[in-house]
Amino acid sequence: MSQFSYKDGVLHAEGTSLSAIAEQFGTPTYVYSKAALLANFAAYADACRGRDALVCYAMKANSNLAILDLLARQGAGFDIVSGGELLRVLAAGGDPRKVIFSGVGKSVEEMRLALSHDILCFNVESIPELHRLNEVAGGMGKKARISLRVNPNVDAKTHPYIATGLKANKFGVAFSDALDTYRTAAQLPHLDVVGIDCHIGSQLLDDAPLLEALDRLIELIDQLGAEGIVLHHLDIGGGIGIDYREQGEKAPVPVGDYLGRLFARIDAWRAERHGGNGIKVIFEPGRSIVGDTGVLLTKVEFLKHGEEKNFCIVDAAMNDMARPALYQAWMDMQPVLQGGAAAATYDVVGPICESGDWLARDRALAVAAGDLLVMHTAGAYGMTMASNYNTRGRAAEVIVDGSVPHLVRQRENPADLYALESLIK
Ligand SMILES: *Cc1c(COP(=O)(O)O)cnc(C)c1O
Repeated sequence: MSQFSYKDGVLHAEGTSLSAIAEQFGTPTYVYSKAALLANFAAYADACRGRDALVCYAMKANSNLAILDLLARQGAGFDIVSGGELLRVLAAGGDPRKVIFSGVGKSVEEMRLALSHDILCFNVESIPELHRLNEVAGGMGKKARISLRVNPNVDAKTHPYIATGLKANKFGVAFSDALDTYRTAAQLPHLDVVGIDCHIGSQLLDDAPLLEALDRLIELIDQLGAEGIVLHHLDIGGGIGIDYREQGEKAPVPVGDYLGRLFARIDAWRAERHGGNGIKVIFEPGRSIVGDTGVLLTKVEFLKHGEEKNFCIVDAAMNDMARPALYQAWMDMQPVLQGGAAAATYDVVGPICESGDWLARDRALAVAAGDLLVMHTAGAYGMTMASNYNTRGRAAEVIVDGSVPHLVRQRENPADLYALESLIK
């Protein structure tokens, strides 16, 4: 059930009108629904109930402290990709013992920080990284828990920029090299080999590639076990897609269905081969936790009728939401007030000096200058990818809880943007 719907002709987030939010906090503003966030997390938590499983929210999708806090209170762990993200988890009161650290380029400083907080696991992506981590841990008199990110070479059939499990991607260790890499890792004195992970891509509408990846991981776990390298967890990554409401787009697999099928395979493995006894299952969902919980609220500055196209120029831009410019992503736009001006077909664009600065193309919209619009399904990879291009302060963020809007990030002022700069003498 969507938490964004019209009531008396005005679009609401839960019980709060988006017009009132624009009036109180200005635009552009990201508006999230607390109920939607909790429901999305519950879909994972419910399917994991009674099992040894951990949901590590991939916080690069949306790392606002209030979101992290709400999820941490539900028992979430976190999948981080930088030292900065670990500091956010700590600032939000999250448990570092439920943190896994992904990414191909972890620095020595980031490794030290993560080790000093005793995170659950490093998801290692290469042999040089194994050696660096071994050295850093040794220097601190510690052992680093590691998992190898294996590249199962399955085609996730998604956008090339967000497919990550193919041979040609920069991520992970090739499947054919995995056994040898595990043997290397097991020899290193300051590493504790505890798991295996993969992440094959994002916005997957179908779970078949994920289940195929699971089969390949299981194969490796069995082979490793036969050599005496016993793993304690299996991390299948994130990647479940969401409904961007594009016409003709396939509906994404429901989270509960996917997890049901995944656990059924793990149970069968256990029953048939006594494999995976005591193995913990880890998930790293990002988009499917936050994507549909948020909208980007924006105001129409001008309507411009060109020779070939009409432009709806709004106060949000590619610096606020990069997905259309970056991936040609289709995002749904709706006016906040129903039944306004006559509809016309517009390209919705921002004020930035780039032709790539568009939010939506060829949309029938009934809008006039001064009206409010929302971009739907903007909760994931929106604010976290925002920049300050054109010295534009980043948007405010609001979480709605019923009829109460909470400001969870203030709008940036231009002075904030150059506060760290200085003139040369
Ligand atoms: C981005 C990412 C995720 C989350 O992906 P979603 O498609 O948002 O679920 C999980 N794991 C890793 C390693 C990632 O890089």
